[in-house]
Amino acid sequence: MRGDRALAREIQGEIEKAIGEQPAVSVRDGIARLRGRFPSHQAAVDAGLLAAGFDRIRQVVNDLSFPGKMRFRTPRKVSDELTGCEFDVVVVGGGVIGLAVARELSRFDLSIALFERHNDLGMDQTLHSCAMVHPAIQADYGTLRWEMNHKGNAMWGDTASELDVDFERIGTLIVAENPEEEALLPYVLNEAVKHNDPEPELLDRDGLDRVEPGLASHVSKGVLIWNTGIISVFELVIAYAENALSNGVSIFLDTAVTGVHTEDSAIRAIDTTRGTVKARILINAAGLYADRIAQYAGDRFFTLHPRKGETIIFDKSYQPVRTVFAPVSLATEAQDSKYTKGGGIIPTTDGNLQFGPTAIEVCDREDVSTTAEGCEGLFEKFAPLLQRLKPDYEKPDKGKVITQFAGCRAATYKEDFIIEPSRKVRGLIHAAGIQSPGLASTPAIVERLREIVEEDWRPATDGAFNPARRRKVRFSELDLKTKDRFIWDDHLYGHMVCRCEDVSEAEVIRALHGPVAARSLDGVKRRTRAGQGRCQGGFCMPRIVDIISREMGIGKEQVLKSEGKSYVLSGRTK
Ligand SMILES: Cc1cc2nc3c(=O)[nH]c(=O)nc-3n(C[C@H](O)[C@H](O)[C@H](O)COP(=O)(O)OP(=O)(O)OC[C@H]3O[C@@H](n4cnc5c(N)ncnc54)[C@H](O)[C@@H]3O)c2cc1C
Repeated sequence: MRGDRALAREIQGEIEKAIGEQPAVSVRDGIARLRGRFPSHQAAVDAGLLAAGFDRIRQVVNDLSFPGKMRFRTPRKVSDELTGCEFDVVVVGGGVIGLAVARELSRFDLSIALFERHNDLGMDQTLHSCAMVHPAIQADYGTLRWEMNHKGNAMWGDTASELDVDFERIGTLIVAENPEEEALLPYVLNEAVKHNDPEPELLDRDGLDRVEPGLASHVSKGVLIWNTGIISVFELVIAYAENALSNGVSIFLDTAVTGVHTEDSAIRAIDTTRGTVKARILINAAGLYADRIAQYAGDRFFTLHPRKGETIIFDKSYQPVRTVFAPVSLATEAQDSKYTKGGGIIPTTDGNLQFGPTAIEVCDREDVSTTAEGCEGLFEKFAPLLQRLKPDYEKPDKGKVITQFAGCRAATYKEDFIIEPSRKVRGLIHAAGIQSPGLASTPAIVERLREIVEEDWRPATDGAFNPARRRKVRFSELDLKTKDRFIWDDHLYGHMVCRCEDVSEAEVIRALHGPVAARSLDGVKRRTRAGQGRCQGGFCMPRIVDIISREMGIGKEQVLKSEGKSYVLSGRTK
């Protein structure tokens, strides 16, 4: 106790010295709690980070208020249709982690329900990610983030082929531009070895030409960390969901968890916007709201601070790199940064190039706004780099940026993942603070969650579990003869709806009726790529609105862009 009080005073003093404000600080069981009024959101975040910097602090609960602080509103109940249902396991959150753990637990003889508040899956962090499977060198050595990243990265080859999802190991290439930077390459190589990235290579010019042709003549050495991958992220979300469903998991969309009932410090029931269900195990995979779920269950021991990232995407005609590519100067800047790995030049499995993401602390967890500064900043940071390092390739052109998106990361003040059973509530298991590289770490995170469930609950295995899932055919990838056969079987394969991405009407219809059906224009876009090309839906949007209206049996005015009241059309003009 006396030790806790002394530590609290130390933290308070440190915050006062650095920020000039004096919060009320208490410490118990390694949890620091901060209270008081601060002048700005950034000052409150900085105070949380300072408190977390103390070794003896396990987590930080940050209750500092500041002008403009958002108030959390619990969603309203819409029905009672689920009341009376009983499950062994409830998973909160249909992001990549929730879906992957629901699928993983379907190996056992357990009844499993997954609740997702949005009308589609993966719509928070997961879909706003850059879809990169990071090498472990980018995570702080020794942290849980590093351990999960390193293990998860190695598992992606098998997981992606089980789920039939596009995944390529394209490598990260770090190049030196002058003798001083060349001298740093052995350090980069050592760091990769220390972080357990397998067999990083020091490349000479011949090696560089093999991996990344067309580099400027002043670049003569580099390090290749070959295990960096890129993955098709929405295909992955759908794949996990389809496989979970086929193994007996129930997925409920448009269903938010709003409360948790415990009895004798054990999970008993979960309140949702569609009624109260009984459950013994609650997996908290609620991404940006995982601290809220912990609070509902009476286990509030961390606060998340959302960190927004903006990314810009180029037209497919601009493909200057094969690898995730950085000069030593950029790689070391990223290592030194408090907040981010610095963003990068990242190809996608669909053949588009991305610059990003940025990293800015925001107070609204729902902030997905894109800004002119975000676009400018990314272009100014990365375009000159490409021009310098790939001078013979076409000059980066802002006119080729086809879209920009943003999403928030769910960071804890310790900046590490929390993957553990609750110390207070039996049956509650947290997968929280899963910010970047959460996607890269997914297979390892769900393996850890499965081990926790196995250890605590010893469930019997389900002999009927089948981990394999096959994806639907993509018409644009077929050869001419096969395309012809498809059109003979179903003439709607011959109706091209999206000319940029070669998507047929048959595929749009399939997306609206599949096991994880699209319910909006964006839902169709994510499943088929219709609208993701150069014209960004300019040509195909009216056609898809027609198809959605026909297939869902709703008026065109009812067709949603995304969810809520995001109607595509506002009414008739004539
Ligand atoms: C800009 C950006 C770029 C990134 N890039 C990469 C990258 O390249 N590589 C990488 O490895 N990682 C990356 N990440 C991190 C990665 O996206 C996340 O770590 C990962 O998606 C976390 O998945 P999740 O399922 O935990 O969270 P989410 O995807 O956020 O899913 C949580 C889900 O829970 C739901 N939910 C919340 N509260 C409730 C409730 N009360 N009831 C019901 N449902 C609820 C939400 O709606 C959401 O769908 C990036 C993240 C961002 C923001």
